[in-house]
Amino acid sequence: MSRFDLLLRGGLVIDGTASPDAARLADVGVAGGRLTLLAPGAPAEADEVADVTGLAVTPGFIDVHTHSDGVTLIDGELGREMVLASVLQGVTTEISGNCGSSLFPALPGRLNAMGAENRVYFGGDVGMYEGFAEFGAAHAAVPRANHLASLVGHGTLRSGVMGPVDRAATPEELETMCLLLDRALGAGAAGLSTGLIYTPGTYAGTDEVVALAAVAARYGKPYVTHLRDEMSRVEEALEEAVEIAARSGAPLHVSHHKTAGKYAWGRTRRTLPRISTLRAEGMDVTCDVYPYTAGSTALGAMLPPWASEGGISALTARLADPGQRDLMRLAIAEGVPGWENTVGNGGWDRISIACAPRHSETEGLTIAELAVTRGQDPLDVAAALLVAEQGEVTIISHSMVEDDVRRVLAAPYSMVGSDGVPKPGGRPHPRWAGTFPRVLGHYVRELGLLSLETAVHKMTGMAAARFGLEGRGVIADGAHADLVVFDPAKIADHATFTDPLLPPTGIERVVVAGLTVVRDGMETGARPGRVLAT
Ligand SMILES: [Zn+2]
Repeated sequence: MSRFDLLLRGGLVIDGTASPDAARLADVGVAGGRLTLLAPGAPAEADEVADVTGLAVTPGFIDVHTHSDGVTLIDGELGREMVLASVLQGVTTEISGNCGSSLFPALPGRLNAMGAENRVYFGGDVGMYEGFAEFGAAHAAVPRANHLASLVGHGTLRSGVMGPVDRAATPEELETMCLLLDRALGAGAAGLSTGLIYTPGTYAGTDEVVALAAVAARYGKPYVTHLRDEMSRVEEALEEAVEIAARSGAPLHVSHHKTAGKYAWGRTRRTLPRISTLRAEGMDVTCDVYPYTAGSTALGAMLPPWASEGGISALTARLADPGQRDLMRLAIAEGVPGWENTVGNGGWDRISIACAPRHSETEGLTIAELAVTRGQDPLDVAAALLVAEQGEVTIISHSMVEDDVRRVLAAPYSMVGSDGVPKPGGRPHPRWAGTFPRVLGHYVRELGLLSLETAVHKMTGMAAARFGLEGRGVIADGAHADLVVFDPAKIADHATFTDPLLPPTGIERVVVAGLTVVRDGMETGARPGRVLAT
């Protein structure tokens, strides 16, 4: 008779594939961190037998878009609490290193010293670790509950080699960036990411990105991009990404696809058919999406790119200068070619403060509200906050409409990524704690936008295939034992913009590498997670 560490009896297995019989009654055995599928009631013994009748048993969710790279390394116990929000919603693997920003690689001797002032969540600063192996070793020293994989950030490569400068890379600089990328991908990083709305990504032209994406193409790893514009010029930005993929040969993955701001609302009616056509023509294009009509990013990204040239000290010096602030006001009013102008596409009344560590009284309020209270111009309010916080302010931007979100979620090639920014303090975007149960509860059960099997596939098998996570994202004999057990009739998100870390309900158990890390909605304290090489 078979013997297991854990045996889940009586559940509805949804195996993570796109096959027509993806959902079926089966028992699931876990031994040595691997899975075995059994006929219902088949004779077997186990150290722990769980009756999961009436519940769904699925592969662990893969959050394909996070900014959680170093939260446990940098923020200690607070960081671990933040990471927990992800595990409690069933995420067993996070993909970090997104939007151009990763914690590696860096040239030896030019490593970024660890510290609050050096935390970068978007765009990219100099890496903290020399390579992927050092990144993995750092995480191994601070055990975590779930797994982490990482892309290589273009912004990190660029800052490390060139500094925060607004100019094209020289051939030698580009060669060094390609070499660092090549080493990181060879060591197990999952692909290349860009954040072309953020500095220093905004400073790079298309050719520079093509050269780097060609390195990813050699490994068959994806080019993952936060498009240069997700607002009024989203279609041109998508075409740039398509050009990069076509010229480099890299598979293309569009991060958190959205058409935001009043000029772009409804534009998914054009971007999604364009992607479908490209796929029909044979191009390997996918995307991810989070199930909310608000985004979250850095307050600094509301300013024209030239404001940040030279790094944070140069930015704060400009912000303190009334003449420079007038130029920024003008740039926002009139736009700058090639720059996604969030405020110009919406207004300061759609931008609320998520996290300003030293000015928590501003959190939850919009810049427009703060401006009225203080009798100041909104840009001056933003400038004062950025100076006082040394640039470290995150915001929530209520910039999308529901129809666009639903269209992207329903697209057959979209996966689910929270885009969570787990940063202790403040009122972060609720997506870090609610994304996956929100899709399964609100969009699957309540709205019927997707079938349960399709939603699970988007969260598991499709994501694992895209990011090279072999043996994950499916329930099959010999697959890695990363699992979620939930009640499809009850699963629901509770995190809101006012209470952003409230855990979901309906998730009974989360298993990582064969160990139960969440039981009855509570963490068990097990920390089997590690950095995964792809
Ligand atoms: Zn992004």
